[in-house]
Amino acid sequence: MSFHLSRRSLLAASALLPLGLHSPAVAAAPSGPYRIGVFTVTPLRDGLFPLEPSMIPAAESQAGQALLKGAGLPAEGPSPEPVNAFLIRRGDRHWLLDAGCGTVLGPGFDRVTAALAAEGVRPDQIETIWLTHLHADHAGGLLTPGRLARFANAELVLQEREVAYWSDAGARASAPAALSPMFETAQAVMAAYPGRLRRVSGEAELAPGIHALPLPGHTPGHMGVLIADGPDRLLIWGDIVHSRLLQMPHPDWTVIWDTDPIEAIATRRGILDRAATEGFRVTGMHIATVGKIERASTGYALI
Ligand SMILES: [Zn+2]
Repeated sequence: MSFHLSRRSLLAASALLPLGLHSPAVAAAPSGPYRIGVFTVTPLRDGLFPLEPSMIPAAESQAGQALLKGAGLPAEGPSPEPVNAFLIRRGDRHWLLDAGCGTVLGPGFDRVTAALAAEGVRPDQIETIWLTHLHADHAGGLLTPGRLARFANAELVLQEREVAYWSDAGARASAPAALSPMFETAQAVMAAYPGRLRRVSGEAELAPGIHALPLPGHTPGHMGVLIADGPDRLLIWGDIVHSRLLQMPHPDWTVIWDTDPIEAIATRRGILDRAATEGFRVTGMHIATVGKIERASTGYALI
């Protein structure tokens, strides 16, 4: 999900806040913390994003309207979707996975720092920030309003392909005009952390028990993070779904921000199927809870 929020979306975002309080299925305060053996994972809610059906064009349909109505939402949308970052702790070590929007998407977000403080953690205590990808709702929170580094001591870690894509003048020139501000945020983030950007490739070990899992399509270097201690496993899958309500039953419904929609569909189907088979828990940046994946009569379900 990301950032070319229309003015209407921003207005809808503020209008949704009271609605969200009464819409537990989609907008509940984040559950957690989750324990995975020696690890503690705490979702940090940056804000709520008003997802309009036009952002998942296949949802502008009878099937989409029926799902929205069935969840108690207006048939024409929008649905309030969480934007999360995650604090991951082991003993006295503190890592962050993504950082929310910060101030780059306008008002209504930028709550990650306060959520960290509520956990007794200062930004300068974060040693590493793993990034699922460089979209503004994941990386904008790395910047102060003045576009400086918000995390004084943290190293940023992301996939080599992600750095290459957002650094590529040719990719920017050939991307739709609507994506251009995304390049600006991604490049501002990379510029704000000079000498503190570490590239990994493939299923790299990020820390003992924590591995990168490439999930390309939404962006070229989009990745999930698999946290494991013995048989206990949690996959934080980034943006595999932007709407649990719409995309779990319809894994082929893509969002308008996918760099490669065909690859995004194949990746989504692949990881949903693997999660259903292997039985590990999953959560994501736009999911309000944690659960296991089951195959359903239509698509999949998060249980
Ligand atoms: Zn997103």
